[in-house]
Order: sequence, then C-alpha cells, then structure tokens
Amino acid sequence: MALTTESDLPSARLKQIIDVLDADPLLPDRLIRLLSWASEYYHHPIGEVIESALPLPLRRGAPAGPRLPEVYRLTRQGLELNPTALDRAPLQRQVVTMLRAVAPGGEGAAAAHLRRISPAWRGAANALIRKGLVSKGQQSCRRPGPADGLFPIVLNPTQASAVSNILSSLGNFQTSLLQGITGSGKTEVYLAAIEAVVARGRQALVLVPEIGLTPQLVERFRQRLNVNITVMHSGLSDSERHRAWWAALTGSVQVVLGTRSAAFAPLRDPGLFIIDEEHDTSYKQQDGFRYHARDLILYRAKLENVPVVLGSATPAFESLVNVDRGRYRRIELPSRPGAADLPSAHLLDLRRLPTTDGLTGPLIEAIRKRIVRKEQSLIFLNRRGFAPVLYCTACSWIAQCPRCDAKLTTHKQSGSLQCHHCGHRAPAPTMCPVCQKLSLINLGEGTQRIEETLSALFPDAAVLRIDRDVTRRKGHLEARLNCIREGGADILVGTQLLTKGHDFPNVTLVGVVNADQGLYSMDFRAPEHLFQQIIQVAGRAGRADKPGEVLVQTWNPHHPYFELLRDHDYSWFAHLALAERRAAHFPPYHYLALLRAESTRARVAIEFLNLARRQAGVVLRKNKPDQVHVLDPVPAPMERRAGRYRAQLLVSAAHRTPLHRFLAAWLKRIDKLPQTKKVRWSIDVDPVDMY
Ligand code: ADP
Ligand code: ZN
Ligand code: ZN
Repeated sequence: MALTTESDLPSARLKQIIDVLDADPLLPDRLIRLLSWASEYYHHPIGEVIESALPLPLRRGAPAGPRLPEVYRLTRQGLELNPTALDRAPLQRQVVTMLRAVAPGGEGAAAAHLRRISPAWRGAANALIRKGLVSKGQQSCRRPGPADGLFPIVLNPTQASAVSNILSSLGNFQTSLLQGITGSGKTEVYLAAIEAVVARGRQALVLVPEIGLTPQLVERFRQRLNVNITVMHSGLSDSERHRAWWAALTGSVQVVLGTRSAAFAPLRDPGLFIIDEEHDTSYKQQDGFRYHARDLILYRAKLENVPVVLGSATPAFESLVNVDRGRYRRIELPSRPGAADLPSAHLLDLRRLPTTDGLTGPLIEAIRKRIVRKEQSLIFLNRRGFAPVLYCTACSWIAQCPRCDAKLTTHKQSGSLQCHHCGHRAPAPTMCPVCQKLSLINLGEGTQRIEETLSALFPDAAVLRIDRDVTRRKGHLEARLNCIREGGADILVGTQLLTKGHDFPNVTLVGVVNADQGLYSMDFRAPEHLFQQIIQVAGRAGRADKPGEVLVQTWNPHHPYFELLRDHDYSWFAHLALAERRAAHFPPYHYLALLRAESTRARVAIEFLNLARRQAGVVLRKNKPDQVHVLDPVPAPMERRAGRYRAQLLVSAAHRTPLHRFLAAWLKRIDKLPQTKKVRWSIDVDPVDMY
C-alpha cells in the first residue's frame, strides 16, 4: 500500500518481502484511493477489499498481463492457396478449410476448435506453419466492429437534450439522475453519451443489475458502438475475468459493461460512469465485503472528476432525496418514443372477488381476451415453487424447515419440499408425518401452481414459466426469452426475473397475482421495493404500438399507495413514503449500520451483542451521545437460518461523520472481546436487507 523507511513495530513482527511481483504498481493510484476509502467507509479490512478488486490469478501472483489463448491463422499465402493443392495431405487440407470457415476475417481459431478435426491435428498445423501457410499467435482482445449505422436511431428532442446535458459536464464530477419511465429510451441516451466520450478517447463504465446483463443487451451495445467492449460479471471464468480486467486497465477496450463487482474495474482513462436501474438491490453486496456499487461509483467519479448517470424509472429514495438537496441534477424522459403509451392500471379487490388458485375472474377473462387476439399476457408473482405452505387439515401440522424458522415450499415437478432460505430439500410426504392421515393440502400459490392452473384453464395456450428454478442452468433464461419474443408463448408466468429490462413488444396484459407481500413487512424498505417491482413489471406491457393493461390483485385496494399505483405516480408515492421515513428517522434521512452476529447455540449471538452494546456505551460516554443512537440487540426477524441463531443490533445517526467516528472506535473495542471467537459477526454499513 505504501513505502516507509521506519516502523514503530519491533523487527521481530515485521515480515520479509518474499518477492516483488511488479515493477510498477498493478492498480492505478486512484483505484487504490477508492479501495482505501471503501475499506474505511465499510469498516472492512483493506486486504479483503483489494482482493475483491483483483481477478483470482492476480491474487495468486500471476503475471499482470494474462496469457491469451493461442490461435492459428491463415497467412496471406495460406489465404490465397487453393485447398486442392493439399489433396495429398488431407489433414492439412481440413485445417486450412476450417480456418477459412471459422475465421474468414483472420481472427484465428483456437486449439479447442481445431481439435475437433482429429486428435492428430497438431502435426498437420505444424506442417502448415513450416510451409508458411499458417501462423500461430495470441488472440487479440479486439473484436471486429459492427457495420456502421446498422441501426440508425434519431434521438427525439428530449433524448437529445438529455445527452447534451450529460455531455456538458464531461471532465467534471456531476451526478445526473436520468428518470424515465420504462421504454422511454434511456438506453439510447446512454449509447449516445458513450459514443461521444469514446470519441474523445476516454472510457465508459456501465453497470447493470445482476440479471439485466443479457446477451441481447451486450449485442445491442456491440452493434451500436463501433468500439471494443468487454463484459464483467460473475459468470466469467477466472482467466476470462483476468483478460477483461487487463483489457480495461490497458485501455484496449473503451467500454466496460458489467454487474456489481465491475465497479472496481481498473480503467486507464475513465470519462463516464453509468448505472442503469440504479434502484436495483443487486448493487448491494450482501455478504463478506458489503459494499454498494452505486455509492462506490459516486465516490470514484468524484476522485476521477467524471460525470455519473444514474438511470431508472423508479429511482431509489436515496437518489430522489439527493435531487431535492441539489446534489444530483434530474433529467427526465417523460414519455415513450412513438405511439407506445403507458398502460392503464386497475385494482382487483381480493376481498370481494372469488379466486381459482389465486386468480380472480376478471384477470382470467382478461387473459382469455389476449389469447383470442393473439397477444401475450404476463402474470407476475414473486414466489417460486408450487405452494408456500404444506398443511395437515386433520392435526394442523405445517411443514417447517428443520434448520430455519421458515416454512417449506412445495415443489411439484421434483416432488420435494424446499427451504428457500437455506436450500434444505426433502421428499414431499403423502401422509401427515404426525397424525399419519392422508390429509395434507397445499395452501397458497407459487409460480408452478399458477402455471398449472393457467394450463388447465387454457389447454390450447402455451404457458411459459420463468423463475430461478427453470433458469438456473446456463442458457435457459435466454432460450425462454427468445421463445417469448418469437411468439412461442401466450402466457408468461414469472417472478422478478421477468421485471427487469426485457422488452416484450407483444405483451399487452400484466397481471400481478398478489401485490400485498411487502406492504406490511417488518422491513421499512419493503413498500419502496414492492412499488419499484410493480411499476417495472407494469412497464413490460404495451411497449410497441398496442396499448397495454395492468391488473393488480390486492387485499388492500384502498391503501393510499395502491391508489397512486393506478396513475403510475411513483413520484407522489415516493413523496408520501419519504415523509414516513423522515418521521421514523429512517434512511435516507438517517444513516444506519447493523451489527450482526450468529451462532449455532441459542442466546450466544444475542449475549455477544449485549456485550457489544455495553462497549458502545463506553464509546458514547466519551463522545457526544446524542448524535448516535445504539438500539438494543434483538433476534433477527428470522432468528434461525441454516441451523444458526441470528441476532442484530442497529445503530443510527442523523449524520454520517459522527456515525463513522463512532463505528471506528466501537469496532476496535469489539475486536478485542474474547467472545468474538464464539460467534460469527459482521458490520453492515447502510444495510439494505435487514434480515
Ligand atoms: P429504456 O432503456 O428507457 O427502457 P430503450 O432505450 O430500451 O428504453 O428504448 C425502448 C425502445 O424504444 C427500444 O426498442 C429503442 O430502440 C426504442 N427507441 C428509443 N429511442 C428511440 C428513438 N429516438 N427513435 C426510435 N426508437 C427509439
Ligand atoms: Zn396431521
Ligand atoms: Zn431452511
């Protein structure tokens, strides 16, 4: 991290330098400063913070520049050769033919490719190299750019002014909140702004949510921008990640498109940062080093003197408050280009309307109409599996997870009971394990049950389910999304996987099966997340030239929030909900930190937190006690998970600085407690999920 000539430590405690890996520092100075800040802000050890920013091979001391896979290319002579000239060496002829077929532009083919010809391909390739027909070399990161002007899009006046607004602050730190309803053309604004930044010879970093980084999006960027792009996400192999990292660091790519962890991507000369769907909770790392990618990028942009664009139809409350405080500039895209209008929304009163497996008559009728008109319906339910409760009507037994304070979900296809919190699985019993009667019933509905019900109601319709159970395997989500786009499905049933960023032009009906989950949750952010989800899913309807309709089933049709939903009035909803936050001293008006502890034995975690609470008292007595509030330890809302008892302790403060000063002093004391050995504990600064 730094060099010094002296140390206060006794020499016995100093360690020898084993090896000097790089002559020049591997990480750019400003990235080191970002990581140091993050270590301080999140009170997480600097070593682990830096680790999270380095690809695995580099953590193990590999050379900074990655080894690129070796590729074989036809030389000019090889390209001009008539393959019949090799008739007497059939293997060599096959190699030449394959190189011509797979890499006509001279990109080259990897060994893995050529191996398919024959296990003896290498001898043939070497012979061709000796003849000067083939060359062997490293693959370059460059990709051939797209044909120019493949998709000419003329920005409308609002988009154009949004772009010039963003570009006006190039070279300065300035945060813009690009607030535009779904489908209003935000991505087009990003693309135009990136184009301008790259034209000035600088790089752009674009973050998208975990499930927003689809091949379609990458393809759209590749086709529209005539530059080198690299992607960074958790699905990459270690060596792919290393190559992407190196390409970004050395400036051989101009655009980095990635998920949360790409916030640490090294950049040679950043000119613009973009965070799409900035409200998305996948930007928060929920374990280990618990950072928020949006907040990191904001700090990074300040260090680099570069503008940031936060885009969303439903901005995080934090961002809205920052606009109010004059810290962010708001840029609005109030309408959709072309004829596409926002769908009308209607509430369906679950108290009055009878249901078939959770679906009301009007919703079923609306789906029927879409089938007749050959349009698609999207049914949203944020619960996978068949049913959330397996219940015995004879003795009231309920299937519980043996390792968590949670009910088990029935999964029909696999005939199993599953815990969605710890992954526990068991075969579903046919008979009650307590009273031995055949009196078990499934209560409530998950996506599998809705799929089954709809298939029974509409036997001629194609029902397609999209949730984590069907998309866990690589490529399955893609295949299903393509099927939807090609009209291969009439009804889509899915969880929030369906709500993000996907464009389904033929969907004209969105049904929300039960909007009330989260309305009365213990998590104070639940209403915010609920509304963001519903508005996002509603935005899937009527994107093309067909008007859309949104039907929301609820037990609380008169809840003021739902009245606002009808008008898509996110801003007014946020205004009301923010007033509640302010009154309750919750974020964004107050700042929080959550100390968590867990142990396999009951009470141990909470006893540890009691000790920590006492240490807090000592620290607070020394400082001004009224600036920081330390609450009493409580069991976590779900106390037992995966066999561990969990407890938490909340700290809140009206200002950041005293909170962080307190945390630093407090954590130092906690670290010294001998009881830390009996528990797993962690600090979560700006926690998003309070469970
Ligand atoms: P968002 O990112 O806000 O959801 P997109 O940028 O994806 O919106 O735009 C939605 C659709 O509208 C896309 O198919 C896009 O190509 C199209 N679109 C956006 N802006 C324009 C424009 N100015 N002219 C024509 N089509 C546009
Ligand atoms: Zn029973
Ligand atoms: Zn469990």
